[in-house]
Amino acid sequence: MKNILYHSTRNNNDKLKASEAVLKGLADDGGLFVPEELPKLDISFDELKKLDYKGVAYEVMKLFLTDYTEEELKFCIEHAYDSKFDTEEIAPLVYADGAYYLELFHGKTIAFKDMALSILPYLMTTAARKNDLKEEIVILTATSGDTGKAALAGFADVPGTRIAVFYPKNGVSPVQEKQMVTQKGSNVKVIGITGNFDDAQTGVKKMFNDAALKAELKEKGFVFSSANSINIGRLVPQVVYYVYAYVTLLKNGKVTPEDSINVTVPTGNFGNILAAYYAKNLGVPIAKLICASNTNRVLYDFFTTGTYDKTKELNLSDGKFDAERKFTLTGSPSMDILISSNLERLIYLSCGSDDKKDSSLMKDLNEKGSYTLDDNAKSFLKDFECGFADEIKTEDKIKKLYKDTGYIIDTHTAVAAAVYDDYKARTNDDTVTVIASTASPYKFAKTVMGAIDDANKSKDDFALIDELNRLSGVDIPQAIEDIRSAAVLHDTVCDKEDMVSEVKKFLNI
Ligand SMILES: *Cc1c(COP(=O)(O)O)cnc(C)c1O
Repeated sequence: MKNILYHSTRNNNDKLKASEAVLKGLADDGGLFVPEELPKLDISFDELKKLDYKGVAYEVMKLFLTDYTEEELKFCIEHAYDSKFDTEEIAPLVYADGAYYLELFHGKTIAFKDMALSILPYLMTTAARKNDLKEEIVILTATSGDTGKAALAGFADVPGTRIAVFYPKNGVSPVQEKQMVTQKGSNVKVIGITGNFDDAQTGVKKMFNDAALKAELKEKGFVFSSANSINIGRLVPQVVYYVYAYVTLLKNGKVTPEDSINVTVPTGNFGNILAAYYAKNLGVPIAKLICASNTNRVLYDFFTTGTYDKTKELNLSDGKFDAERKFTLTGSPSMDILISSNLERLIYLSCGSDDKKDSSLMKDLNEKGSYTLDDNAKSFLKDFECGFADEIKTEDKIKKLYKDTGYIIDTHTAVAAAVYDDYKARTNDDTVTVIASTASPYKFAKTVMGAIDDANKSKDDFALIDELNRLSGVDIPQAIEDIRSAAVLHDTVCDKEDMVSEVKKFLNI
């Protein structure tokens, strides 16, 4: 098997082993680690059909994480995808109204982040052992809601690690917040900031790039790492379920070996859809990757024009970026993002893996708030389709799907489903389509139930959870039962300027 090394999107020369990239999270130059080449499957789909989720996970992850031994990788996989998930399938496919919903929310925190964050602590502590790391790992994480809880659940009480999570105090759902602030564990800290997700993410990135702070930490026996979706150890486990979904469709006769599939992904930080793109490169016949945004449609604007602009919005009537881009809090908060970090990995590939080009575009983004791809790079993106759905469209989709089929989806998934409906109407493309279903409707019960019946809008989350249970017939997940009565253990709120001092306080330095 080919040994794969990693380097920054902004520097092709300094190469790291996979385990080193997992430990570091983000490259020192601010770039993201990418494999020096994208691997291909070395096993046939007929063979893959015989495997369960864990078996597929091994066949996919071994291609990316080549310095982990078979024993190490299998250990990580066995411990991650166990009874923490409420179904042995791990990622079931559910057919409803013309599309296959790939349910990625059967883990501990009922959002798709569990798919990667239940294995990341194992990948990281294994990497620490392999690389003789002396320092204690401090995970710093910015979250728009779901990453935080999934990372906390993954790292709580893992020896040799601590975790601090920053979230926008007024930018997550009540259930998301309650899930985080009730987190138990001797090594965990949850901090609300007065700002939005991008403020939290920028603050965390700054700490990662602060050489003086890192030196101070090292002296005290700590080293930062990231559980955010920029970590290659997050991305690689996500590739697995796209392979698994395709193989499941094959196995069940829903597609033939000659067919391609499309995938539609509700997108925020661009990690999930990038994983689908890596799966396509592995050899999964994915034709279109449909990138779905909510009202914060910076990615829609980007795929439509080739210009990424975090300050100005595309004016849909004149095709110019002449409106101020506003940050809107929506019912799909995990997609309320203006700076999509993982997009840089696609940008890098679109520039022909040219690190200088990538650096210069990212410099433009930093300094001018925008960058524009040249025609070559733009044509590289031809397999990506895009769309966006506002709040009304999203809620209409939840209601209609429920009325037509009885199947209830969460707000993020509904953004994708609405965008897929538009795509189908626009193109008449009837390729079998997988929609990434990224959260349990229970996690966003208020918006989901409000969409189904206006009268629900005045009721509180927990009353609606029982109502949702009645309507859907789906058992209330353990994650929800757990927080109903749990005590609040974290009440720190700080300004974005004070994130460093909060981290120091947490580490007692
Ligand atoms: C994180 C998240 C998303 C966005 O995924 P990205 O990988 O950041 O694009 C979508 N839906 C839910 C429920 C999420 O938690």
